[in-house]
Formats: sequence, structure tokens, C-alpha cells
Amino acid sequence: MVSGPVGTEDLAGVEEPGGPAPAASLEITPSREAQVGEQRVHRALPRRERRTVGAWCFIDHLGPTTVTEADRIGIGPHPHMGLQTVTWLVAGELLHRDSLGSEQLIRPGQLNLMSAGRGVAHAEEATAYRGDFQAVQLWVAQPERTRSGPPAFEHHAELPQAELDNAVATILVGELAGSVSPARRDTEHVGIDLVLQPGSAVVPLRSAFEHGLVVLEGAAGIDGNGVEPGHLAYLGLGRDELRLAVEVPTRALLVGGTPFESAVLMWWNFVARTRDEVTTAQQAWNSDDGRFGAVASTMDRIDAPGLPWAGPAGA
Ligand code: MN
Repeated sequence: MVSGPVGTEDLAGVEEPGGPAPAASLEITPSREAQVGEQRVHRALPRRERRTVGAWCFIDHLGPTTVTEADRIGIGPHPHMGLQTVTWLVAGELLHRDSLGSEQLIRPGQLNLMSAGRGVAHAEEATAYRGDFQAVQLWVAQPERTRSGPPAFEHHAELPQAELDNAVATILVGELAGSVSPARRDTEHVGIDLVLQPGSAVVPLRSAFEHGLVVLEGAAGIDGNGVEPGHLAYLGLGRDELRLAVEVPTRALLVGGTPFESAVLMWWNFVARTRDEVTTAQQAWNSDDGRFGAVASTMDRIDAPGLPWAGPAGA
């Protein structure tokens, strides 16, 4: 479930390149309800109105929900290319397995970062955990420099935090207030978890970055506009701080970065530039030719759907 658009509702959704980023602005866009595996998620990015925020090209928010014996969470082996998966849990537990041989339990406050490069496969499996579950899965588009490079995986059990007035910021990737995440970063971007208490919080921003905010729980006021779960607040370029007005305990995720170097073509679990690249990857995965490797998973491998440009048969 925290692994991308593998559900049927996304099959038709070829993400074509979007337009240039506007300067300092506020644009609040409702997330789309998407189906990933058996879970409903709020997809804040990409949306027709907004394809990327910096190199961030995908934001799924799952939950809050409850993991029970009958209603477990997880997704079987599937491939990625040209992107980094960023897995961040608010509540719950997941077991990551990938074709590099990684096997890593992840818990709230920890970061799993997988760089797909030319190709990798992974699964995210349920554990014996039962109880509240809430997670965010994000993708970061890899730049030309690394997108055809080798895959890699890293886990960070602890991340730096910054204390702000009425807020604690955890730095998933990039830098905030002088604290730098140890996570790999192929472009100029930042990802921050914010735990906000009632009051006013000021988050320092880099004006050369465009930014976006997703509220996971609670609500946050920006420039007099309320932002609630199920929306992306796009903040544009040119802001050197973000003022958040909060009346109830609130959890939010702030992403930002230099506008991405090129338009990206997103289809299924692939981030590419051309249809040919996607076609080649889809065929490689479905024929299991070894490009993406094998995942030692207890779950079933997920086939790629037919390509929307391959004709009615979807070869
Ligand atoms: Mn995935």
C-alpha cells in the first residue's frame, strides 16, 4: 500500500509533463482518492494541476487506519526505476524487502530511502503488528546524473530534529535550521515532518525552492487559508519562511526543492522521460528478465498493467 500506483484506478493515468512553476503563491488542491492494493489513499501528487514540487513527484498518504488480523497491510514485489522511494510512518510497522537483498523493519520516526536508478524491485510486508497505522510514501525523481545508475537502499533509524516555536521538525532529507539529514540526496530538495502545537510556527524556507505542504492530521492556516488532510498546499517559489497558524495538534509534511531539471513521464511505478523507456521497463518486469532482480518475499509478484499507448491489447 505504501508503494505506489499499482491499483487499477491508475492504469489510465499517464502523467504527461506539466507547465512551469509559478512564483510565490498559494494553491490548495484536493488530493485524489486512489486505490493501492486493498487500501484507499489520498494522492496529493501528482495532480493534473501540479506534477512536481522540486524533485518530489509523488505523495501518497495512507490512513489513519487500523491493522487487524483480517485487515493487514502490505504490497508484493513490484519494480521501480528513475526515482527514490521515501517511506515515512506516523504509526505502525512495515517490513521492507528488495532485490538488493535488503530486509529492513521500519517504525515511526525512521526513514527508508530506496534509490531505484536503472531498476530495483521491492515489497513492503505486514508484520505481527496490530493497531493504528498511518504512513506517507513519497517519490523523488532522480536527475539525469543518477537515474540510470545502480540501485541502492538506506535506512536511517534516527534523524535530526529542529525545535521551532510551537513545532518540532524532523528532517527526513535535506537541511533545516542548520540541521542536515544523513539521507542521500541527488538534487536540491528537502523533506520535513512537522509536529505542531496550537499557536503560530514559523518554518524557515529557501527562497530558491518551491514548496508544498500536506497536512496529515489536524489543520494548518497559511496566509489565512485553512489546509486540512486530503489536500496539497502548493507554496510556489520565493518564500523565505512559512507561517503556520494552528489551533489543534497537527501533523504535516513539508516538501520542497529547486524546480526539477526536466519534465518527467510517470507511468505505474516508473519515472522516465520517454515512452520507449517505460515500454522497455514494463516488458523487462513482466518477462522477469532479471533487470529488476528478485525479491525474497512471501507475497505475490505484481505484474505491470498493459501500456496505454500499446493499442487495445495493451501488449
Ligand atoms: Mn514501491
